Amino acid sequence: MIYTDTRDRNVKVDFKTAVIKGMNPETGGLYIPSFFPKLDASILNKTSAPSFRNIAFEIARLYTDGEIPEPELNMIIADCYPFNAQVVPIDPVTYVLELFHGPTCAFKDFGARFMARMMSYFNRDEKEQLHILVATSGDTGSAVGSAFHKVPGLDVTILYPEGKISPLQEKQLSTFTDNVRALRVKGTFDDCQKLVKTAFTDAALRRKLRLSSANSINISRLLPQSFYYMYASLVVANRASHDSGIEHPSIIMSVPSGNFGNLTSGLIAREMGAPIKGFIAATNSNKTIPDWIATGSYEPRASVKTLSNAMDVGAPSNYERIQAMYNLDEVKKLFASYWLDDKGTSDAIHECKQKTGYVIDPHGAIGWKAWDDIRRNAMLNLVSGFPNDFNNPGLTPNIPDWANDVVDKKSVGIVLETAHPAKFGEIVKKATGSDPLLPDRLERVLSLPDRAIPMENNYETFRDWLVSNL
Ligand SMILES: *Cc1c(COP(=O)(O)O)cnc(C)c1O
Repeated sequence: MIYTDTRDRNVKVDFKTAVIKGMNPETGGLYIPSFFPKLDASILNKTSAPSFRNIAFEIARLYTDGEIPEPELNMIIADCYPFNAQVVPIDPVTYVLELFHGPTCAFKDFGARFMARMMSYFNRDEKEQLHILVATSGDTGSAVGSAFHKVPGLDVTILYPEGKISPLQEKQLSTFTDNVRALRVKGTFDDCQKLVKTAFTDAALRRKLRLSSANSINISRLLPQSFYYMYASLVVANRASHDSGIEHPSIIMSVPSGNFGNLTSGLIAREMGAPIKGFIAATNSNKTIPDWIATGSYEPRASVKTLSNAMDVGAPSNYERIQAMYNLDEVKKLFASYWLDDKGTSDAIHECKQKTGYVIDPHGAIGWKAWDDIRRNAMLNLVSGFPNDFNNPGLTPNIPDWANDVVDKKSVGIVLETAHPAKFGEIVKKATGSDPLLPDRLERVLSLPDRAIPMENNYETFRDWLVSNL
């Protein structure tokens, strides 16, 4: 597979280059596959339940073609995914796609684990370690730390702001051993990011140490997320007529979004033949993309803090990839967009439990409410000429191609549940009245010793630490 660049279509690189570089230093653009191969019809048309790992392998094979021998790729996929994505029906036309069964209980495990193994594979002939630096305000750090833990040839240094992340998040970051360590920085998240960025531009340091990032813009984090879209849409395509009583319903995916990496992976799966009719781009008050779809003008902005904090992104980096794949008219036909404020999010957690019995986290709750509202009233109102004012929470005014499928009750929805509700226990408890059950792997991490290393918010101190400890 040849990869090109969102800013210059003349760029042609192999997968290894795209993985190792992350973004194109010459253009500032992001790597994307030069085309999206269709998955084999024998898989797409299978009438029995697919296997997640098999689909993962079949997709990965197409994007790593010729660069990783198939038996090795098969082993890598098995090592990435000892867990599954799970499709859970919660009413006759709604499925929750649970993406929290990985080690850190959030969907980022799917992307980060694949990326770690790709970097390790492509680094296998190098004599020196590759040192990954990540600044985190919470969940990315734990997914990356866990994904790279004990992966050969690499080590990870996580920087996080002291006192600014939740106690559970801090435990998830600071208790790794071996090749993953955390620095507790006396500063803000922005200070952490600045330390990392300064290190990357420090030529003298880079002559001593091979440095890399584990950024969410890396294509090897995006591609594996398409595995579960393909898997879930095939599972639902197989069972939805039976569950819903609707003959061949269209499948709509509702995606709680921040940086829009997850949704972009859904677009890739659809291009590859996944039976997905449309998407709901669901956000919190950081509604840069809903505003773009509503007004046609893209205005990145500073992020605001919300209950669904992993989606607090005002300038989503994958906007550039969505734009490289589709023009605005196509986006308006393919996407509905929907946003909720904090009050709406908390109400949605409550309402979801009340209506369906399902305990959902604040991120998934936005996706659930978007789908539930759209399929009950919001889309009917919109096509009848009573659109929501997009300045208020709710559905924004474009009418997607699939609007009538929803209005005529010929569709089912898949809501992506991106984190386990126990990761946001306090918010969920406030909304529902009870504490969500803590999974064993989160409970275990709470009793591990904290190994974080205190770090001044000072570049020279940080650099000296790197030089003497890596
Ligand atoms: C990162 C994250 C998101 C947002 O995903 P994007 O790919 O940035 O749109 C949503 N929910 C949770 C729990 C996350 O950790």
